[in-house]
Amino acid sequence: MSTRKRVAVIGAGSMGSQAMWRLAARGADVVGYDRYAPGHDRGAAGGETRIFRAAHLSEPAYVPLLRLADRLWDRLQQETGRALRHRNGSLIMGESASAPMRTLLSVSAAQGLDHEVLDRAALARRYPQHRLPEGHTAVLDRRGGTIRPEASVQAAAGRAEQLGARLHRYTPVRELAPAAGGGVNVVTDHGTDQVDTAVVTAGPWINTLLPDLPRAVEIRRLVSSWHIPTTHDWFAGGAPSFVRSAPHDCYGLPSPDGVSVKIGLSFARHLPVTDPERLDRTVDPAELGTFRELIGELMPDLNPDPVRLSVYMEGYTESGHPLVGHLPGERDIVVLAGFSGSGFKFSPAMGEIAADLALDGTTEHAIDFLAPTAPGPVV
Ligand SMILES: Cc1cc2nc3c(=O)[nH]c(=O)nc-3n(C[C@H](O)[C@H](O)[C@H](O)COP(=O)(O)OP(=O)(O)OC[C@H]3O[C@@H](n4cnc5c(N)ncnc54)[C@H](O)[C@@H]3O)c2cc1C
Repeated sequence: MSTRKRVAVIGAGSMGSQAMWRLAARGADVVGYDRYAPGHDRGAAGGETRIFRAAHLSEPAYVPLLRLADRLWDRLQQETGRALRHRNGSLIMGESASAPMRTLLSVSAAQGLDHEVLDRAALARRYPQHRLPEGHTAVLDRRGGTIRPEASVQAAAGRAEQLGARLHRYTPVRELAPAAGGGVNVVTDHGTDQVDTAVVTAGPWINTLLPDLPRAVEIRRLVSSWHIPTTHDWFAGGAPSFVRSAPHDCYGLPSPDGVSVKIGLSFARHLPVTDPERLDRTVDPAELGTFRELIGELMPDLNPDPVRLSVYMEGYTESGHPLVGHLPGERDIVVLAGFSGSGFKFSPAMGEIAADLALDGTTEHAIDFLAPTAPGPVV
């Protein structure tokens, strides 16, 4: 009889595909389930680009996790031969005296991160596509860059399947229940499978499957808007991804094809989602005002008329920290949820940690501050 641990991964999206890869690489008997198929655009992982940063604006404890993710992104690219990440740097801009910018600078210096501080004049010379208001600073995170989310999810899930994992596509899990004698019963429309451990990575659908999480995960609707530059300068200098902290609260990424720039807004501007299966994917013209204002003030060489609008979902926690760990009182159920708009960059690290928790019951990585029961400081 096989002694391999049987692990179910519920949701083969950003976190689940990586968990499947790391579990399969470590010899587990992995069975994944997704309500759609890897790389789909209905959850948190669509829209062709995600920012990777080595630095963090609020919590130094994330830096080792970013380092782990950095190494694993390289490894996934090597193992699959796919170009998933482009290290074109990441610009972080905000009020020089604000708490996020001060934390960013002190953490970057203390942890020896490869970064460069640019004042208004230096930014205007190097990246004339961005305007920096008086009293604001820019920090270039040189190890930052752009990840391709759909390709990454497919690469991780595909690599897991190559290593022996099985994946049930278009198979929503309806229920998880403790099995008699230990383990977990995974219930789908096709029957019930018994596994030793379940890793739940259901993203914006987490409350449908686990309605009693110890920390609330609120689902929000995010609009992404693509704009074509009116000058050729936009992609000069490597065109790093960028984040603007308060008061602008937005981010953006030049598209990999060099044609347009994607802009997104921060949490406060996202509407709540009551039913993730009924996400309103139509964008009303009234929703475009903020994009237009930000472009006019900060990036006037972009045409404010969007060429593409897409709508996605994400789960947010009050603290901004995700829930990563065993569900209280359930030693066979590991949950990863509530990545609060910044989880993609961490996803291979989260996959590795999920594998540790599922196979060993614990992890050596410092994630106590992400425990499902930990309130965590508000970021
Ligand atoms: C517009 C947008 C921009 C973002 N930008 C960035 C960025 O620049 N950088 C960054 O690091 N992060 C970014 N994020 C955040 C990041 O993308 C998310 O944190 C991450 O994708 C969350 O991954 P997830 O695995 O929790 O959810 P998902 O990737 O959505 O995966 C959940 C999966 O579970 C499946 N599923 C759900 N319920 C079930 C069920 N019952 N049975 C079977 N399968 C099920 C779904 O089909 C889905 O495939 C952004 C998010 C959004 C929405």
